[in-house]
Formats: sequence, structure tokens, C-alpha cells
Amino acid sequence: MGEQSLVEVANLHRRFGDVHAVHGLEFQLRRGEVLGFLGPNGAGKTTTMQMICGVLAPSEGVVRIGGVDLLEDPIEAKRQLGYLPEQPPLYREFTVDEYLRYCAHLRGLRNRQANTAMEEAKERCGLQGNGRRVIGNLSKGYQQRVGIAQAILHRPAVVVLDEPTVGLDPIQIREIRELMSELGNDHGVILSTHILPEVQAVCDRVQILHEGRLVLDEDLAQLSKSQRPHSTRVKFRRPPSRKALTGLAGVKRVEALDADTLRLHHADDEALAERIVEASVAGDWGLFELVSESRSLEEIFVELTFGEGQARSDGDPEAGP
Ligand code: ATP
Repeated sequence: MGEQSLVEVANLHRRFGDVHAVHGLEFQLRRGEVLGFLGPNGAGKTTTMQMICGVLAPSEGVVRIGGVDLLEDPIEAKRQLGYLPEQPPLYREFTVDEYLRYCAHLRGLRNRQANTAMEEAKERCGLQGNGRRVIGNLSKGYQQRVGIAQAILHRPAVVVLDEPTVGLDPIQIREIRELMSELGNDHGVILSTHILPEVQAVCDRVQILHEGRLVLDEDLAQLSKSQRPHSTRVKFRRPPSRKALTGLAGVKRVEALDADTLRLHHADDEALAERIVEASVAGDWGLFELVSESRSLEEIFVELTFGEGQARSDGDPEAGP
């Protein structure tokens, strides 16, 4: 398949009556990439996942999995796809082996092929030694592992996981995150989640969906560069006038946080801290605290999806209300 994208989504739309739930999505997933799919409730994440996985037909647009058009050849496209829906499709009364064998059969794997696939999936998901356990008696974390095992059983190129760590304890969450990172090494993974630190922990790229449109699509490495400080919090014993502070080169806006604490908004500027210190000494302002503030993924998320700010995916982050 070479450098071809594992998933290609073009001009994807879905309408439910008057609700335009997904509005012209365009993106690609590359091999070896874990893509975090974020968005507030009702943003259209599940609708998009369902369209990518061939569970829901788009109103318009194209989805290709490994170069195969999902609408033209759904069976071939779905061969390359593993899906863990938000509610794992498990049969609680089956043992792990019975369930995985059943899934292997659904995937057209029989006898030795099925056995090999099951052993491999169990090993990758840390389920060795649990084959004979009844699914309903497993902890939620182990049930989730079984859900992931069924998604990777047929060695698909693309794995789509919808909120895979919801309801797990911190140890289980860490284990499932490690597994997701590992899957990203030789599969392409799309991970839908509400948990921002999870995206930071396991994803290479993040997309934020808001009202059916992508408002952010960026490599996390790139994003952390753009998260360089854009504001500085300062405390003075003898605060100067606001005019004196806005007069400092680079300062765009001054916000008062409390009696002696101010936030200076500015562009990324490594030398500004030095200028503040110099001005404080010269003006005898009594500077006793200076903290460079970075925007967290959470702040970016809120900025893009709350109120009117959402249109500014690449706009001036300082453009205040
Ligand atoms: P959540 O995080 O709450 O799961 P989401 O981002 O997954 O939200 P979707 O479930 O995709 O959002 O819903 C997007 C929009 O489409 C919502 O306004 C929802 O009400 C609407 N919608 C989804 N499915 C249907 C349906 N079958 N019929 C009518 N409207 C629907």
C-alpha cells in the first residue's frame, strides 16, 4: 500500500432531517498514526465513527479504507477495519475463547487460522491465561481488553476505538493506553475520547470536531510548539500603571487578576520576561513573581468549542472578547 493513507475521508456529510450532524469533513489517517478525535457532546463524533466503520451511510461524501471505497465495496473495505463501539459488543455468558472464536468465524477465519489469530490477539491484549473465563465475570478493564481483542483479531490496518477507557480504574486506564500506543506502531488508530490527557498520552495527531465541522487538525508535536507561552502572570509589591505595562514592547493587553496580580497577554516572545524584570528594577515596581503561562489542550479545546471562539482555529489567540 506504500504511503497511501489508511483512511481517507472526503466531503463527508450526514443529515438527520434538519440536523446537519456532520458537515463536509476531510481528513486522512496514515499508517503508524494514533489520531485523537475530540469534541463536545453532540459534535458528531459517533456519527463520523459510524460512517467510517460502514455502520451508517453518509448523506454525501467518500470514505476509503486502504484505498477501497466503503460504499462501492463494503466487504473488502471492512476487512481492513476493526471497531470497538462505546458499548463493547460482548456476550457475557461466553468464555473469552468462545467469544473470540465466534468473532474469528464472523471474520471468515477457521481452524488453525482462527486459533493463531486468537492466540495473537490475546497475547497483545494481555489476556493469556484468561481464555476459559466467562466474560461476565471479568473486570471492566478485562472486558475492554476482550473488546479490543475482537477489534484486532483479523489484523486490520485500521482500528477505531470509541471511548475505550470510560469507566476503568487508573491502573486499567494506563494498561489500555499502553496497548493503544502499541497498536499505533503497526496499525492506524482512531480514538474517540472526552479525556484530553488521554489524547496527550497516546495520540500523534488531534482533531477537534465542533457542530459537525473540524475546527482543529494538528500534530501534537506541532501543537505543543504553538502552546508556547502567550501570557505571563506577574505580581508587583508596587504595581505600575497599566499604561506603563502596555508600553512594554510586545505586550498586547493587561488583565487584572487580583489586587497585586496581573496577566500580560503577548505573542510568543522569549525576551519579554527580561524586559519586564528590567522595567521593574528601573521603575522600582517590586516584581516578586513572574510565571510564563502555556495554553493547555483543555484551553484550546474550550476556546474552539465554546461560544463564538470556535471559528478561530488558526486565528489570533489573543483576539480577546
Ligand atoms: P457524544 O459525545 O454525546 O456521544 P457525538 O459527538 O458523538 O456526541 P453524535 O452522536 O454524532 O455526537 O450526534 C451529532 C448530532 O446528530 C446531534 O445533534 C444528535 O442529536 C444528532 N443525531 C445523531 N444521531 C441521530 C439520529 N439517529 N437521528 C436524529 N439525530 C441524530
